[in-house]
Amino acid sequence: MDRSSKSRKRISRRDFVGRAGLGAAAFAGASAMSGLDAQAQRSAASAIPTKWDLEADVVVLGAGASGLPAAIRAADHGASVIVVEANYDIGGHGIINGGQVPLGGGTSAQKKHGIVDSPDILFKDLTDWSVVETNGMPEYRHNDRGVQRALADNEAAAYEFLLENGVKFEDGPPGVQGGHAIGISAPRENYAEWDKGQSLESPRGGGGTVIYRALETSAKKKGVKFLLNYHMDVILRETLSAGRVLGISASYTPKFLPGSTTPMQPFRSDGVIAMTARTVTVRARKAVIVATGGSSSNVNFRRMFDARLTDEYQVAGEPYSSQDASGEMAGMAIGASLWGTANQTFERNGALRKRPMIGAQHIYPEWTPESPVFPLVRATGVRVTDWQDLILVNQVGKRFYDETAEGWPYGTHHGFLEPYVQGDWRNPRRITYRPQNFLDAALAPNDGSQAPDFRAGPIWAIFDADAVQREKWDLAAPATDPLFFFRADTVAELTKQLRRNQYQKVDMPAGNLEATVARYNSIVDFGYDPDFEKPNPKYKIQRPPFYAAWATPVVHDTYAGLRINMKCQVVDFNGQVIPGLYCSGESAGGCSQHGQGRAITQGYIAGKEAAGERGLSN
Ligand SMILES: Cc1cc2nc3c(=O)[nH]c(=O)nc-3n(C[C@H](O)[C@H](O)[C@H](O)COP(=O)(O)OP(=O)(O)OC[C@H]3O[C@@H](n4cnc5c(N)ncnc54)[C@H](O)[C@@H]3O)c2cc1C
Repeated sequence: MDRSSKSRKRISRRDFVGRAGLGAAAFAGASAMSGLDAQAQRSAASAIPTKWDLEADVVVLGAGASGLPAAIRAADHGASVIVVEANYDIGGHGIINGGQVPLGGGTSAQKKHGIVDSPDILFKDLTDWSVVETNGMPEYRHNDRGVQRALADNEAAAYEFLLENGVKFEDGPPGVQGGHAIGISAPRENYAEWDKGQSLESPRGGGGTVIYRALETSAKKKGVKFLLNYHMDVILRETLSAGRVLGISASYTPKFLPGSTTPMQPFRSDGVIAMTARTVTVRARKAVIVATGGSSSNVNFRRMFDARLTDEYQVAGEPYSSQDASGEMAGMAIGASLWGTANQTFERNGALRKRPMIGAQHIYPEWTPESPVFPLVRATGVRVTDWQDLILVNQVGKRFYDETAEGWPYGTHHGFLEPYVQGDWRNPRRITYRPQNFLDAALAPNDGSQAPDFRAGPIWAIFDADAVQREKWDLAAPATDPLFFFRADTVAELTKQLRRNQYQKVDMPAGNLEATVARYNSIVDFGYDPDFEKPNPKYKIQRPPFYAAWATPVVHDTYAGLRINMKCQVVDFNGQVIPGLYCSGESAGGCSQHGQGRAITQGYIAGKEAAGERGLSN
């Protein structure tokens, strides 16, 4: 048990003045919640404190890609702001991302480079029913039109806002690299540069550092205060189904490295509220903005959209920050609706990814030992340069697909479709249908799948000493994780070792892997793969030692969340705005777009609107 869950248990009724009724947090934190936690949080949820620990006009939940712009915009519009962040530092997935920022609609960068774009063009792109991916999945068809119109109207302004707040982009023209579902009419991807490696300042060493350290600096200059290491558990509303949102309660969740009793420290501590109380209540005089980053890390929550995603699928960005659905669940507990859920079930846009890194649990992004979270990451993994060097097997030791195949498509962008005419019924006919079912085969139930979930289990890369030489892998620590990477002198012995991995919940049946390797070797001799048509299967697996390396797909984005309107106000199950509650970024529904463009823009909208609330009179 970590300290945070211990502390949550100690929330008592004494901390609150009791109110009748069952509480909001029947949902909150449910993924890791014990009965006691739930009971404690129910008390908390049904109680409005007579005395709040902290107070601000606007309380932003999450200091990531959406929360930071929201906080700055609220401050720009005269509000006092407290940002409550569960992690030990600011940034969320934003600061560990690649720094590719999709923003269009007529930005100054687009204009400078002669790229024609406008809010109208962008809006039509983002709601174009006629665009389908190469696997037939429609990217824009299920988007909420109001949410997209608000995005289209504000993206260019959000880009200028980033510049005004110190974010620097490469000077070249906007491109398409990294663009997912950002519309086809114009290049809209902007690039922040950073190649200084991983450090306390830049946990992943990517372009996100440039963006979010700049926004952190700007926010602090504008008076925004940060409450780090506090996880919002409950959003407090006048009553559970009516009235204004009044504030939140949060519990202390410091992060510890293995063997250490000292909480991890942020890169900079200026502007950080010094608190270590087990629980804190924060009053929001005007509004609370949920910017908690989505729900992909919460297995039960994500399985509402895709029941196949049992616990073996790691989430990109962990263990730096996670997307535990706490914002969604706290919102739903006071009446908020989910929205745009079709977007979360689609098999495209990198929602689940086949990764080239194997042999470690946390392989996306690629961590190095210099990262402050590396002791939690434990191993870097090794990069596969040629999928011919190995076979991939499921939890019962059987191949399931051509190893060289790609995962689901990564989203459409400018140049994807030529000619592209917005809304033209011919567009889908111009796509060459290319089913990409590697991931579906990986997720399929197999002989080891058992009731009640019939989980597909891990995927293992199997290879031999010759493959290690060809790939030039150094497999010594910290390249591989002893619980996610195994080695043995025989294939039979290798099979036995796999149960040491916590996600390999069944014994790989004796003989299966040996039979698979023997058959694959005969396929290589034969020169043709009748099972999965792997093109020109090249290398036998024959020279000991033999290896099994973790190669299980990684969950990436959240594409469904709380229902919002064009002002990013959260809307309830009756279609009514919940006064004083906003949501932005991956926790907001109605948008099928990957990444920080929409997170930044929605934060930009929500911050201003929240600051403009009339709010509480005293
Ligand atoms: C490895 C990686 C690379 C990526 N590369 C790109 C890229 O190049 N371009 C791009 O556009 N997108 C990229 N993305 C996606 C992009 O970073 C996210 O879409 C974006 O950060 C989402 O913004 P957000 O504010 O919704 O969530 P986040 O940025 O994750 O922020 C959410 C914050 O809320 C905090 N939080 C969660 N729950 C609570 C709670 N209960 N109380 C308090 N705080 C809480 C989290 O700790 C986190 O700090 C990448 C993502 C990853 C993981």
